[in-house]
Amino acid sequence: DGEKVKDDGANYDIGLQEVGDGTGIVTRFPPEPSGYLHIGHAKAALLNDYFAHEKYKGKLILRFDDTNPIKEKQEFQDSIVEDLALMGVKADTVSYTSNYFQELYDYCVQMLNEGTAYADDTLQEKMREERMNGVASERRESSPEDNLARFEEMKTGSAEGLRWCIRAKMSVDDPNKAMRDPVIYRCSPQVHHRTGDTWKIYPTYDFCCPIVDSLEGVTHALRTTEYNDRDAQYQWFLKTLKLRHVYNWAFARLNFVRTVLSKRKLTLIVENGDVWGWDDPRMPTVRGVRRRGVTIPALREFILKQGPSKNIVNLDWHSFWATNKKHIDPIAARYTALASAAQVPVTVVGARAGVTTEEKDKHAKYTTLGKKKVVFSASILLEQADAASFAADEEITLMNWGNAIVRHISHSINPLAQPAGLKTVTAVELELHLQGDVKKTAKKVTWLSTDQALVPVELVDFDYLITKDKLDVDDELGDFLNKQTETRTLAVADCNVAELQVDDVIQFDRKGYFRVDRAFRHGEAVVAFQIPTGKSK
Ligand code: ATP
Ligand code: MG
Ligand code: MG
Repeated sequence: DGEKVKDDGANYDIGLQEVGDGTGIVTRFPPEPSGYLHIGHAKAALLNDYFAHEKYKGKLILRFDDTNPIKEKQEFQDSIVEDLALMGVKADTVSYTSNYFQELYDYCVQMLNEGTAYADDTLQEKMREERMNGVASERRESSPEDNLARFEEMKTGSAEGLRWCIRAKMSVDDPNKAMRDPVIYRCSPQVHHRTGDTWKIYPTYDFCCPIVDSLEGVTHALRTTEYNDRDAQYQWFLKTLKLRHVYNWAFARLNFVRTVLSKRKLTLIVENGDVWGWDDPRMPTVRGVRRRGVTIPALREFILKQGPSKNIVNLDWHSFWATNKKHIDPIAARYTALASAAQVPVTVVGARAGVTTEEKDKHAKYTTLGKKKVVFSASILLEQADAASFAADEEITLMNWGNAIVRHISHSINPLAQPAGLKTVTAVELELHLQGDVKKTAKKVTWLSTDQALVPVELVDFDYLITKDKLDVDDELGDFLNKQTETRTLAVADCNVAELQVDDVIQFDRKGYFRVDRAFRHGEAVVAFQIPTGKSK
């Protein structure tokens, strides 16, 4: 974990503009500390890191875009630092947009003086309408003196100041609506998590981004394609303020089916208690997918494989989990677990007397994973479904042991069962037939000797949080939340499972891959989360 796998298979033909020998390249990842990183953010971070450090020999800036104190918290900032480290993304510098509040303020004053910005108190609704219809605000031609006075009023955070905002004087009716006098400063008496109550005015993202990029020496500002319309205003700010040029470079936003990748919506899900927290295994956060069982190299490979393409697609999770499977298969030790419900006691005729314990490889192919104990005795357990499928005198295979012939099956008829008359197997007698060919049997069943300290396990499988492939803009999140997203199955596992640690990735034979979320302790069951493999879901 945390170790950077250089060989992700990423090597893009599509590079950045005008890179020269690549040593002067500076990219940046600018998260807002208003939530935990999700896998969309991971794409942005990994791409910026790829261009700065792998494709070219440049620099990467991690900049906290902390201009909206209402939504931002230290907790989120700390989690972003940790998650980037985990992903192997190493920033050369860490900065904060809030470090530039003074400069940004000075640039705003400059624009008010030069007549390239004005103060506006048009009501929000009306401003929206005017912008839609290409109508000028009645404040547009106010004098620099008036504008500066209003900006000073905003700076005090007074009730009067709160009514105003500052807008760049770009265009009234440009066909590109992003150019229609965007707001660059707002008054907000909110306490900021880094600058406290020093400022009562905060610059908008559109204003900060070009200025801070330019001041910090960024050469290429990578942004998702939804920003294409805003590239023109970005360049307008650089030109108007005579700042050093920065290239805009676009890549596609990452989207997944039945998944929301919006901090606002993810925050709602967390605050609503639909999940246990930001690191819930159902969450598309970096922490969530890790907890579900994705390895960091798999995450990097999958995301970098998407590359810098500009095609926006709604990815399905299959290929994500399939990529992960390649990574976990060689590290997943094999164990056995049997569902607890209606387990069937079995007598094995012909088994060696007493109890035999053998050392077996944890993984037949990857023997470096070490050895485990396999306990053999005449008293074993089978799962109900397996036992119920047996026919009298059928030859079956006990996995990792050998063939056996079904000699006797005892049933009970459950009067309440549906359909009526459904039988439950209550006991089975098998006779070992070790000379039988394991390749010829139709059924290979998992089993456990009762002569070992069996470990209680809870197997947990999860479903998507969202019931619709792609939410439309006016879909209400609450209408599409999946109510049933967690399935728990009680099981028992072989004695080796007692030694597993949290985060171990294993395979239970015939059940699939799991990540240990809670280790065995004081009789409390191991909790293991099913890791999808891209087949079923
Ligand atoms: P969200 O909509 O989830 O709140 P955001 O853009 O508002 O995302 P930021 O913290 O500002 O959140 O994002 C940091 C960086 O991550 C930005 O450069 C943004 O473009 C990028 N980013 C956000 N979501 C995605 C995504 N789904 N795919 C790719 N990049 C993304
Ligand atoms: Mg943002
Ligand atoms: Mg957002």
